[in-house]
Amino acid sequence: MTSSSLSTTLDQLPPACDNIQLNYCKTVACANFSRTDPNLYVLQNSNLQRPVLICRECGAFPPVISNYDVVAEKQRLKLEQNSGLAACSNKHCPHHGLPVLTYRQHYHAFGFSGERQRYRCRACHHTFVDPWSSSNNKHQLQQKLLAYLFTGYTVREICRRLAMNPKTFYDQLNNIAARCRHQLTIFDARLGKQSQARQLATDLTPLQPQSNNGVLWVATAEVNSGYVISQHVNYQTQSVATSVTHHDAYCNGTRFIAPHNDHYPSSAAPLSQGLLAHIDTTYRHILARKNMENPLSAQVNINYPAKGCLVRPQYTVYSHFLYLHELLNHNTSTLAVFMPQETLLRSACLSIFIDRINNHTIDPLYVVEDQQWQHGQQVEKIDIVLMGWWRDRWAFSRNKSGNKGICHLGGNKKDQQRWLTIATHRAATAYQQRFYDQFNHMINEPRRKLRPASLLPLLDIYRAWHNLCHQNKTGITPAQTLDLMSSPMTLEQLLR
Ligand SMILES: [Zn+2]
Ligand SMILES: [Zn+2]
Repeated sequence: MTSSSLSTTLDQLPPACDNIQLNYCKTVACANFSRTDPNLYVLQNSNLQRPVLICRECGAFPPVISNYDVVAEKQRLKLEQNSGLAACSNKHCPHHGLPVLTYRQHYHAFGFSGERQRYRCRACHHTFVDPWSSSNNKHQLQQKLLAYLFTGYTVREICRRLAMNPKTFYDQLNNIAARCRHQLTIFDARLGKQSQARQLATDLTPLQPQSNNGVLWVATAEVNSGYVISQHVNYQTQSVATSVTHHDAYCNGTRFIAPHNDHYPSSAAPLSQGLLAHIDTTYRHILARKNMENPLSAQVNINYPAKGCLVRPQYTVYSHFLYLHELLNHNTSTLAVFMPQETLLRSACLSIFIDRINNHTIDPLYVVEDQQWQHGQQVEKIDIVLMGWWRDRWAFSRNKSGNKGICHLGGNKKDQQRWLTIATHRAATAYQQRFYDQFNHMINEPRRKLRPASLLPLLDIYRAWHNLCHQNKTGITPAQTLDLMSSPMTLEQLLR
């Protein structure tokens, strides 16, 4: 794709891409909600200090986003996810990068190459072998490597014990990660074919919490099993030629952030405060961002990664939801999405699932709870408070130990008692926390702070292990809970 600036006029929204137009009023109760007629808005693109779009009806000023860049970012994430899988490798073919595993209809079996299955693309007749169709002669070495990694050995120590150099270590790690993506693709596709109502938990957090390198990590898990359906980071290992300093949604390629460093004096740690005050403060912090949907546009420190390129987080998060939307496309049952109080998650979820918002088959909720809140308890007294610039309608309750608040972002005022009891994003939050705990030595290693690339294979490996191998107290894996497999997978089976 080329990156060209389009002529900016004040009577147009950023151009649609693949029939996707994500710019409109996002106030659910407003008459202009989800309407894409530019006459309904005040549009300007000359004064950087003022909003580009203001709703003439309710006065809201949702940030604008490049539809082209959301679609392009989704393609980038998809290519990364499918990298290493058997697929047509002809860049000019419509089947390029679409894996045989999930797009069988595009290919036919075409004999063998040694032990390996060969395929031919039905569109361009290009042939290729499936690298995962023969047994893995490195599986014993890889098993040892993973065992050391999961028990907290440093890369240097693992290299010493396995008598390999760091380059071989990372080659093996990348090979394991590709194998894990191959396995995950099979189970994710099974999940996509199921049709029951789903509850999802989403969270957004720094990949390396102590490095301030601008790399954020969004993950979505199925609430009851803990199965992590999808995770993405706003960082790519290749640098780009076209990164820009100012975000301009009318300009293609605007999602890439130009290398820079931001340093602000560290502000005093927030005092411990009640849940209500905490939510109010979060709203004010979000309003103070230059772009409400970009957490990196607040006064945050950024130590730009030494290699590669940061992506404006709104593009990765919108694409994350676009991915979920496609995966769950065949499921017409109701969907619930539980998330922390973050405007980016709200906007992305509402905008991508706009069809479900309009036909009331999705329940998106903010959930904020004290650590002490005991999950699952029946809720008795409920207080309603309208909060933030948007006058969001929050329902609060407290039990013996803690407080909890929920806010239905689709405007539904019913079932508050039920939501206060069942809604939680802990499945995603706890998954991310366990990743930090498990790989603390790699995540926080000083030399790695500006080198997030080496953590990317670890994310794929961790998701596969978590979904397919890791057993809960009763010996069941998340994939088993969802009926995607009948017994836990051992590390050996994962790597064979
Ligand atoms: Zn409006
Ligand atoms: Zn092809």
